[in-house]
Amino acid sequence: MTNRQLFQQHVAQTSPSPVGIEIVSASGNYLIDAEGKRYLDLIGGISVCNIGHSHPSVVAAITRQAESYLHVMVYGEVVQSPQVQYAALLAAHLPAQLDCVYFTNSGAEATEGAIKLARRATGRTDIISCNKGYHGNTLGALSVMGDEYWRNAFRPLMPGVWHYDFNSQELIDAINEHTACVLIETIQGEAGVIAPDPEWLASLRRRCTENGTLLIFDEIQCGFGRTGKLWGFEHYTNIVPDIVLLGKALGGGMPMGAFVSSHALMQLLTFNPVLGHITTFGGHPLCCAAGMAAMHVLMDEHLVAGVAAKEALFISLLKHPEIRTVRSKGLLMAIELSSAGKVSETLRRCITHGLFSDWFLFAPECIRIAPPLTITEDEIRHACAQLLSCI
Ligand code: PLP
Repeated sequence: MTNRQLFQQHVAQTSPSPVGIEIVSASGNYLIDAEGKRYLDLIGGISVCNIGHSHPSVVAAITRQAESYLHVMVYGEVVQSPQVQYAALLAAHLPAQLDCVYFTNSGAEATEGAIKLARRATGRTDIISCNKGYHGNTLGALSVMGDEYWRNAFRPLMPGVWHYDFNSQELIDAINEHTACVLIETIQGEAGVIAPDPEWLASLRRRCTENGTLLIFDEIQCGFGRTGKLWGFEHYTNIVPDIVLLGKALGGGMPMGAFVSSHALMQLLTFNPVLGHITTFGGHPLCCAAGMAAMHVLMDEHLVAGVAAKEALFISLLKHPEIRTVRSKGLLMAIELSSAGKVSETLRRCITHGLFSDWFLFAPECIRIAPPLTITEDEIRHACAQLLSCI
């Protein structure tokens, strides 16, 4: 049997039409398939590979760590250098009050942990999140996800969750003394790239503080420089969440998530009950070593500073009568076409043309552009020319 046949038979299939190309290697901004064909990666493993694929520094860090130790003990019992060093590095690049990191296995688990912390800290159960918000696919995360089509088959979900439109006054008005937390993506990704209105975000922050409600920003997709600042919330003056969720690029290509808050809040997970969140593999030394190396590359190569010019170049080139609009925040971009059908047709042609892209969960009429931040000007010009011809 070929690997493709084994993929279809023995690997659980959730996509009715998987891309199905067989990847044999990936480096920099390119994927290479079993026939030796190169694909320019326009989605970076869905906002994971911000520094490109298999960066030599990341590979070296993984190799070094693998030679020292792999898993030694469940979360939070022994001191592991890659874990504590990476937590300290993250704390040094976050606002002062976000100084304590709980590393998880995925973004969804970070969402779960943050919801638990908000309930534990406030003694309240109600949660407010957004229509078209995405925070992961485990049951708690699915409950706060804002789209009925995707969650309905899995009911009953977690009770006490209220959904409102992003940027809406209704959401702010709904916050009261029963609200444990408001959980939003700082910049909505799967909705097709929707940025918050600055006044709305400021008013949301104020209302949460007045009501003793924790404000949680999900930076899993928009963090690590994707939007042109290290963190998405840095686009907005003086707005800091009580808890921030990290994931995707956090692990430098290895699986990892995190929820980050103040030391005082996080300490609540140490008693009543003790071990307030438990994970065997969260903060795995290999993932932390990889993630930390990737974050150093992001800084040392000044990749975040180059994002705005690359975004502007994309926008200047993406002109076509079939393109309704292009929404973007840095290198997180949605190219809106007339229909989901037109998008899937275009994406199929992109594969033939050696371009790797995708759509958005709640905006299937949009093509996703979220390349490694290392994409070059020449590659952007090439990608746009090919994309326009595929459209
Ligand atoms: N939050 C956001 C904004 C995401 O985009 C995602 C994944 O796409 C998640 C959470 C879930 O992360 P994971 O797939 O690692 O569970």
